[in-house]
Amino acid sequence: MSLQNPVFIPGPTNIPEAIRKACDMPTLDHRSPEFAKVFNPAVSGVRRVLNMDEGEVILLPATGTGGWEAAITNTLSRGDRVLAARFGMFSHRWIDMCQRHGLDVQVIEAPWGQGAPLAEIEAALRADTAHAIKVVLATHNETATGVRSDIAGIRRALDAAGHPALLFVDGVSSIGSMPFDMAGWGVDVAVAGSQKGFMLPAGLAILGVSPKALSAMANADLPRTFLDFRDMTKAYAAGGFPYTPPVGLIAGLAKSIELLEAEGLDAVYARHARFAEATRRAVAAWGMRPCAASPDLYSDTVTAIVVPDGCDGTELVTLAATKYGMAFGVGLGDVAGKVFRIGHLGMLTDAMLLSGLAVAEMCMADLGWDTRLGSGVAAAQDYLRATPSAVLDAAA
Ligand SMILES: *Cc1c(COP(=O)(O)O)cnc(C)c1O
Repeated sequence: MSLQNPVFIPGPTNIPEAIRKACDMPTLDHRSPEFAKVFNPAVSGVRRVLNMDEGEVILLPATGTGGWEAAITNTLSRGDRVLAARFGMFSHRWIDMCQRHGLDVQVIEAPWGQGAPLAEIEAALRADTAHAIKVVLATHNETATGVRSDIAGIRRALDAAGHPALLFVDGVSSIGSMPFDMAGWGVDVAVAGSQKGFMLPAGLAILGVSPKALSAMANADLPRTFLDFRDMTKAYAAGGFPYTPPVGLIAGLAKSIELLEAEGLDAVYARHARFAEATRRAVAAWGMRPCAASPDLYSDTVTAIVVPDGCDGTELVTLAATKYGMAFGVGLGDVAGKVFRIGHLGMLTDAMLLSGLAVAEMCMADLGWDTRLGSGVAAAQDYLRATPSAVLDAAA
């Protein structure tokens, strides 16, 4: 028999059977007209999920990290200035990547558990009267701390400062699970990956690129070949791909978007918000708190839970894996050991979520933490019972 449990890491996420089957397809010649039949629905679907009204969707055989690299190398030159806030492991890694590419990164440090500091971003933009800053980087959902930043607020800061910088958003752990509005927020590059909200295996970087970002390509001198948007857009226009595409993943992406839209994107977002709240009810019943400093920052896709003094979050994650075969997320970087993370994104039902909370509680009891078995599960059950799942209603 299978000992497979759902995973509660914030990516890769659980894969619905329909998506697994859509990925499993016979070999297809990507130079034949058959390829466009797989590719076009995936691309048009991404446009809708990102809410793009213009620009290009780029699909790369990569992961979210490759999407970051594509965003910067296609639009920037060595020495260009980039403005970014650092408040967790993922915002840190994008900054680190920029520095390794020889970009001049103006870093705003913020405490882990906070989001992008809007007032400081606006002040930095206003102070840059020469418009040296070419790009503002923003991590929509900081997966290390479970913090959602206000991307619309960053757009307002850019506009208030009258600053022409491009706005690049890492939406790897938000897109497809939390509302995202590329057109409304004036996002120039949005980066997603296949293995989070899209519920696919890892292997695709999914990008939305605005016309303004596409025109920045002309002067960008950072080296790029595999990730070059110029080769991509040229090949796409001819119904092809510049090299061998991961056709199965692209077919899976079209299926993923079909599932998301059959549920309704707003219903998908509401489902994630509901699971996030159920998780936080459990956390409160355990006598713990989210790492996110205030409710406006709470992520709908991942909750980083601050463990009590003297407890080690990584021990809980290790025990859950070894004793119960269940995966939770460890604390990363500055919060290693101080938090553990419950990913609640992608394919998840009430029953699945409760199984994760129950196993987390068993681990706490095993480790001698001061938590009563059933306390968090009961709090989540109360919340879930009181807010019935819209998904089953729709399916009935
Ligand atoms: C997972 C994640 C990434 C990295 O994506 P990979 O697919 O692992 O390369 C980047 N940013 C955020 C916010 C993430 O959650």
